[in-house]
Amino acid sequence: FLDSLRDPVVILTRDGKIVDINVSFLGFAGSSKEDLTGRDCRETEPLGRLWNNIAASIFGKSGKNERIMMGAKTFEVYITPINTGSDVTHVSVLFRDISALVDLERDFMKKSKELIITNTLSSTFISSSDIDSVLNDLLEKVLLVTDFRIGWVAMKGTERYNVRSMSGVSAEFRRNLDSGKLDGLYERFIRSGDPLFILEPPDVSEVEELRKEGIVFLAAIPLKSNEHVTGLLLLASRVEVQMDFDMASLLSLTGNTVSLIVEKVRLFQETQVLAITDSLTGLFNVRYFYDTLSKEIARTLRYSTPFSIALLDIDNFKLLNDTYGHQAGDEVLRSISEILNRNARSTDIIARYGGEEFIIVLTNTGKQEAFHLACRIKDFIEVESFLHERVRISLSGGIATFPEDASDAKELLYAADMAMYDAKAAGKKTILCYNRKTKQIPAS
Ligand code: GH3
Ligand code: MG
Ligand code: MG
Repeated sequence: FLDSLRDPVVILTRDGKIVDINVSFLGFAGSSKEDLTGRDCRETEPLGRLWNNIAASIFGKSGKNERIMMGAKTFEVYITPINTGSDVTHVSVLFRDISALVDLERDFMKKSKELIITNTLSSTFISSSDIDSVLNDLLEKVLLVTDFRIGWVAMKGTERYNVRSMSGVSAEFRRNLDSGKLDGLYERFIRSGDPLFILEPPDVSEVEELRKEGIVFLAAIPLKSNEHVTGLLLLASRVEVQMDFDMASLLSLTGNTVSLIVEKVRLFQETQVLAITDSLTGLFNVRYFYDTLSKEIARTLRYSTPFSIALLDIDNFKLLNDTYGHQAGDEVLRSISEILNRNARSTDIIARYGGEEFIIVLTNTGKQEAFHLACRIKDFIEVESFLHERVRISLSGGIATFPEDASDAKELLYAADMAMYDAKAAGKKTILCYNRKTKQIPAS
């Protein structure tokens, strides 16, 4: 019966003597039946290393399983006590080759780990304009799925690498990274063109900063956008890391997923900028202006610091278009926008309000100061010449201040418009402030 079994089987007495083996076991153990029969199983392999479980099975009167490796193969060993009456007199040990199953299991684990990586990383919430919090969240997840304790993201800047997110390192190491001490190393990684760059002992100790931090393993994975390396994901460890093919492919997968997310964040930011930008002039668009206006009103109501708006309109712009053409008109609009940008304060929000009208939100600014700022801008424009020195331009403008001129956004815009209307009526090239005493705001 034993010989009819494909799996190697051996029968032992309760004190460990080999009493019978099947044909399969002979091939497996590599010796003859005569050689093995009667021997103490503890002196033979692989039975010797199974003795603890064999003894436990005999004394516990219950079956035991153990998984062992022999060469490249994996066996599940079934140890079964054989009873006569209530006593265990013998024990059978059966070896089942489960290598194929183990391979499948490994494949499955790898696939599921890959899924965990992509799912976990993809769940990074891309929101807000705060790219750093997105990267922090992402790095935390990368460390979680890759089992590393130390990691950072270095993005290529115009001159240097910017460390965007970092975890698990000392303040000194952080300072070293911030001051670009590893930039040369990053360059070396990227120049190699490898999809994964590993620094292990003894090479890692040649980099002073890494050695001082106790890092013995560093993996650098390029982050790519359109085939261009835009940065590196770095993972490091203070204990040695066993690098094998599976690990390498998981790290590459992590790098690819992180690349996609970083690219998505970039696109997201770009779209966000586009959504609030006027395409001709690069100034903020009117939608952003309205947002800013309601925020400023809310802020003023809370802190009662006034703010003003300056509505500016180019004088006789239609004439300029008619004389030089629409393209030339566009060029003038761009030049004026640049002058506005150059001469406004960094806290001012400048938007293109309509065709040849601009509006500036002057935060924390009362009427007099707003008036002076607007006049200064008007003067700057008057001394410039445009379209290759052929044309002079002038502006008219109206100033209104919140809350003294209006109780909401609509009234405030109306007030600025009224002041502008007066400026035009007064002969253009003029900035005027709205004056509530001489004007009636119609009921809305
Ligand atoms: P005023 O001094 O009273 O402001 O006269 P104006 O000619 O500047 O004002 P009007 O409102 O009569 O004309 C504005 C002109 O601006 C009309 C339009 O052709 C031009 N315009 C509006 N948007 C654009 C644009 O995007 N590009 C160009 N080139 N012209 C534009
Ligand atoms: Mg106009
Ligand atoms: Mg005009």
